[in-house]
Amino acid sequence: MKIRYGNSFLHTLWPVLALLLLVGCATNPVTGKQNFVLMSEEQEIDLGKQYHTEVMKQYEVYDDPELTALVERLGEELAANSHRSDLDFHFTVLDSPEVNAFALPGGYVYITRGIIAYMNNEEHLAGVLGHEIGHVTARHSVRQHAASTTANVFGAIATIATGSQGVSQLSSTLGGALVSGYGRSHELEADRLGAEYLAVTGYDPQTMLGVIGILKDQEAFELKRAREENRQPRIYHGLFSTHPDHDRRLQEVIAAAEKFKNPQAKHTNPESFLKLLDNLTFGHSENQGVVRGNRFYHKDLDFTIEFPQGWRIENQPDRLLAVSADNNAMFMVQIDNQKQSETPSAYLRRNFNNVRQVQSIDNDSSTGLVEGSHPFGSGTIRVAAAFHHDKVYVLHAAARYRLPDPQFIDSVKSIRSLDTRERELAEALHLRLIRARDGDTFASLANQSNLASYAEEQLRLLNGMYPDGEPSPGQLVKIVE
Ligand SMILES: [Zn+2]
Repeated sequence: MKIRYGNSFLHTLWPVLALLLLVGCATNPVTGKQNFVLMSEEQEIDLGKQYHTEVMKQYEVYDDPELTALVERLGEELAANSHRSDLDFHFTVLDSPEVNAFALPGGYVYITRGIIAYMNNEEHLAGVLGHEIGHVTARHSVRQHAASTTANVFGAIATIATGSQGVSQLSSTLGGALVSGYGRSHELEADRLGAEYLAVTGYDPQTMLGVIGILKDQEAFELKRAREENRQPRIYHGLFSTHPDHDRRLQEVIAAAEKFKNPQAKHTNPESFLKLLDNLTFGHSENQGVVRGNRFYHKDLDFTIEFPQGWRIENQPDRLLAVSADNNAMFMVQIDNQKQSETPSAYLRRNFNNVRQVQSIDNDSSTGLVEGSHPFGSGTIRVAAAFHHDKVYVLHAAARYRLPDPQFIDSVKSIRSLDTRERELAEALHLRLIRARDGDTFASLANQSNLASYAEEQLRLLNGMYPDGEPSPGQLVKIVE
C-alpha cells in the first residue's frame, strides 16, 4: 500500500475474495482450445500499449539501472533471435515481491524483482525472458483475447482502484492469464520457443529445465507454506504439476532445441551476475510498507496498524487487506490524501451516501454502516475513517456471516505512529552476497538472517539448494538482511 490515490476510491465495492483465494491457482486456468483470431499486428501493438498503461497503474518500475540494463540487453538479444525479430519489444522490471513474469500483446514483457531474486546466473534470467518472448511470438495473449477467460482476479483489483473502462477490459481478457498462465499447451509452447531462442543466442537450451526447476522448488515451498497458513498458494504462472525432472514432454521439447544451438556458445560469469543482485530488495519495499506478524508498518507514512491474531495480511499496491483464518471475514484499508478540516464523522457522512449509525470511536476516528457489495456477496459493510497525520485511513469490514465489530474497532484504534524500534522493523529486507566460510550451513546463515519465518528454506531456495545441499567454502551465497 502506498500513497497514490485521491479520494476517488471510496467505493463500497470490494475486490472479489477470489483475489486472495484463487490467485495463481494452478488448476486449469483457461481452456486449452485455440481460437484463431484475426487481429493485425498494428491492433495487437495498440492493445499492448493500452494494457501497458494499466499495468503501470498497478506496479512501479524497479529502480536499478544496472539490472534493468541487463534485462533489456538479454531480452533484446533473445527477441532479435526470435520469430518476431521485427517487433519492438519492451522489457520492464517491476518493483514487486511477487514471483512472476508475464507478457502482453505487442511485445511488452514484465519481470518482477521477486522472481529475479531466485535466479543464480544470467542463463536463468535469459530462460525466463525467453519463455515470455515465446508467449509474444506465438501470440498467446492475442489468442487469449478472443477467448473468454473465467478468472478476472487481476481486473478485480484494477477496476476498483481506478474505475476506468480500460482496466475492466484488461480484466476480462487477460486477467486470468497474467496471473495464472495460459494453460498447459501454451506454456509448453512458450518453453519450447524459449529454449530455441536460448540456443540461437548461444545459451544452453537445457538451462530452461534448470530455471523451471528453481521455480518449481519455489512453488513446492509456497504450496507447503500456503497449506500451513490456510490460504491459496501464489504461484508463478505456467508451472505444471510435475517437476521438470519427471516431465517427459517438457524434456523432449527442450532437447529438440539443441538443433538450433549457436556454435559460438556464450561464456558468462555467474559471479558477476550474482553481484548484480547484491542489495536487491526482497519482499515488500519500504515505500510499499512491510508486514511483520499481524502488524503492518509504513515508515514514510509513519503509520502502523494491527490486525486480529492469525489473520493473513495482503499488502497490495493500493490497499491493505486482512482476511480471517477461516476466510469468513475481511478488512480493507485505503488511504485518502485529501484530508479536510472536519471531524471523522463528518468525513464519513460526506464520502458515503446513506451511511448510518455514525459514531465516534475516539477523537481521531469514527465508524458507521453502509450497504454494498463485498467479497462474500452483498449487504452491510462497516466502514471507519481514522485521521492520522495528514491522511485519512479508510477502513472497511465485511463478513460472510456476522461482522466482527469488536476486532474491527480494535484495528481502527491500533493505528498510530511508529516508535524507534518499529522504524527499524519497517525497513525493507535486501539480498546480500557473501562468501561462505568454512562450516557455514544454511541453518547457521538462517540464524543470522532477518527473515522472520522459514529462513532456512528461503535461503536454500534463493541459492538453488532446496531442499538439501550446503554452501561450499568460498562460494558466493545470497543471504537476506
Ligand atoms: Zn508462461
